[in-house]
Formats: sequence, C-alpha cells, structure tokens
Amino acid sequence: MTEPTRAGLCDAYRRLGRLGLIQGSSGNISVRTQDGMLISPSGTTPDGIEPTHLVAMTLDHAVPKASSEWALHAGLYRSNPAIGAVVHTHADACTALSCLAEPLPAFHYMVASFGGGDVRCAPYATFGTPRLAALAVAAMQDRSACLLANHGMIATGATLDDALAATLRLETLARQYLLARSAGPPRLLTPEQMADARTRYLTY
Ligand code: 13P
Ligand code: ZN
Repeated sequence: MTEPTRAGLCDAYRRLGRLGLIQGSSGNISVRTQDGMLISPSGTTPDGIEPTHLVAMTLDHAVPKASSEWALHAGLYRSNPAIGAVVHTHADACTALSCLAEPLPAFHYMVASFGGGDVRCAPYATFGTPRLAALAVAAMQDRSACLLANHGMIATGATLDDALAATLRLETLARQYLLARSAGPPRLLTPEQMADARTRYLTY
C-alpha cells in the first residue's frame, strides 16, 4: 500500500468531518487493495485520524483496531468487484430518513444515479455485526448506496472520489426529500421516468 493512498484516505475522512457528515467517531471509510482493503480504525475522529492508524486487512477475518464495521465493507467488496471504495456515515438527513425505515423514493431524477428507482433502507441490526453486514449487502444489490435503518447510510464508488461524491449527493437528496415531505406528499416519478433518467446517466 502506497503512502499517497493512506494519506488520501485520511484526507477523505477529514473532509467528511469538515462537511459535517462525520461527527465524533461515527462513520468509517475504506478502499480496496490488492490483498483486501485499507480501512479506518475503530473509534477514530476526523481530528484524530493519521495515515499510520489505517488498518490494512484481508476481506475474511477481523483484525485488531479495524473499524467495527469491517465485515460490512468486506462484504460489499466481495459482492461486487466494481466497488473500489466504501463510505459509511451517520450524516444528518440520511440518518433522519433512516429512522423512518423507509427507502428514499423516486421523488427526484437524481435518485436514479444510485442505480435504481429508489435507494433502499436496510432493516435495523446492531452495529458492527455480521447480520448488519448481510442486510447492507442485500440492500445494495444493483445500487451504489443504501440507508441503514435507525443508523445512517452507505455509499460506494469505483474510486474514493466517486464514493465521496455519492455520499454528498445522497445526503443532499435526503435533505431535499425531507424538506419536500414537510411541505406535503411529494409527487413521485414513474418507473419509466426513472428508467429514462438512468439511461441518460449512462452518457452523463
Ligand atoms: P467504528 O468507529 O468502529 O468505525 O464505528 C463507527 C460506526 O459508525 C459504527 O456503525
Ligand atoms: Zn455507523
């Protein structure tokens, strides 16, 4: 693992902190490596994270100091070879929406950017458990993001930049959806309109 990758992962974690998407020690991020993944350490904060604290590990068993959600990250890398980076946060709007245990529906065409007609919400399970990892992998089927009920969100990307951009996009959409909902029942787009938006995204 090269130092720029370690530094890049730390920068990304700090950036999520500056954007207010990671508060305290909530959230964790990782990138795929040749042997598995490089993941943030458990209990770290945007102010405290350092390149040497990152944990390099394979995808099949726990390693001391690795994020408590390592199995969730590992499960996503195993489930989809196109995933190169994973971001998990407790960003406010995504977390608020996750507490309704509802998907983010087709209220805006940009929801299609995550691969489907909605962004699913995985059922609740205790943080850091194999059960939560399995539920998250299932909710991410054919999607690049999901909500975790009563917990937060996950976004993936081919690169760390892609996963960060997806995180920001999902948080913005969740905020806009909650705003729209507070004004009345949002009018949802049809499956055909969402399919058209997905097609359009292929050349965007
Ligand atoms: P870690 O500090 O172990 O990465 O856990 C934070 C978290 O968000 C658990 O879901
Ligand atoms: Zn969490």
